[in-house]
Amino acid sequence: MNATQGLVNNTIRFSAVDGPGNRFVVFTQGCNFNCITCHNPYTITECTDCGVCVGSCPEDALTIEAGPLVLVDRSACTDCDICIDVCPEDSTPLARYLTVAALVDEIRTVRPFISGVTLSGGEATQQPDFVRALFGAIKADDELTGLSTMVDSNGSAPLAVWEDLADVIDGAMIDLKALDPDVHVQLTARGNTEVLRTIEYLADIGKLEEVRLLIVPGYNDDVATSERTAAWLHRVDPDMGVKIIGYRAHGVRDEASHVPDATPEALAAFTDAFRRRRFTRITVV
Ligand code: SF4
Ligand code: SF4
Repeated sequence: MNATQGLVNNTIRFSAVDGPGNRFVVFTQGCNFNCITCHNPYTITECTDCGVCVGSCPEDALTIEAGPLVLVDRSACTDCDICIDVCPEDSTPLARYLTVAALVDEIRTVRPFISGVTLSGGEATQQPDFVRALFGAIKADDELTGLSTMVDSNGSAPLAVWEDLADVIDGAMIDLKALDPDVHVQLTARGNTEVLRTIEYLADIGKLEEVRLLIVPGYNDDVATSERTAAWLHRVDPDMGVKIIGYRAHGVRDEASHVPDATPEALAAFTDAFRRRRFTRITVV
């Protein structure tokens, strides 16, 4: 792989939930977290070409060649997702390498209808050269002038990565899975030291678009956590956007099926904790 192409799970031409305005979204494949609450677990790992999914396709769109290498006949694929359901690796045979040039061409076709481009995932910053190349190409393209470039990220990239991307990113939406490092490990299998540093750094340079809080019952939904989280983010920057997201069990892996949906009371407690600290850009979903 080189900087001019990225491993992409999917693209969406119009989204109103992946940053401000109407956005073209590129979902990258591969994530360094393993969140028990992940609603898109098939974006976590890169396909190993094991071949397990090949026989499952009702359209015979999948074949395996010597290598081994699993190939997709996209003209036959009906997006039924059966291959994703049977994959034992949290992957998909449908992810593919796309060039920056091809993505820029596609973005040009919808330019009049969008306000920006978001790189989401998976975890886009796992492919930092691709992020820089795509956003740099958008910034340099006369036909794409005015489009904002945003990353939707788990925040775990090292500071050096964010510093390198700072001039091509207009903003970032960062997930804070838990302020408590032990709870963060329980939820993601990774610590949160880099995440907290990323939030502070992006706020410092004026590029923290939003912090996203997934409220997960039994893990991070208590009143004390809501107060500590709001207080810490207030110290960082009370002008940041905050999105409070209630966990929903639908679509998650079996290991999280025991976790109930977030309660209205928990969402209200978080909302209240931020309102009392004069945050003005609060969204609850
Ligand atoms: S999503 Fe496409 S490739 Fe996968 S099983 Fe369905 S038809 Fe086959
Ligand atoms: S998508 Fe999953 S099951 Fe199919 S070849 Fe790749 S790793 Fe194997």
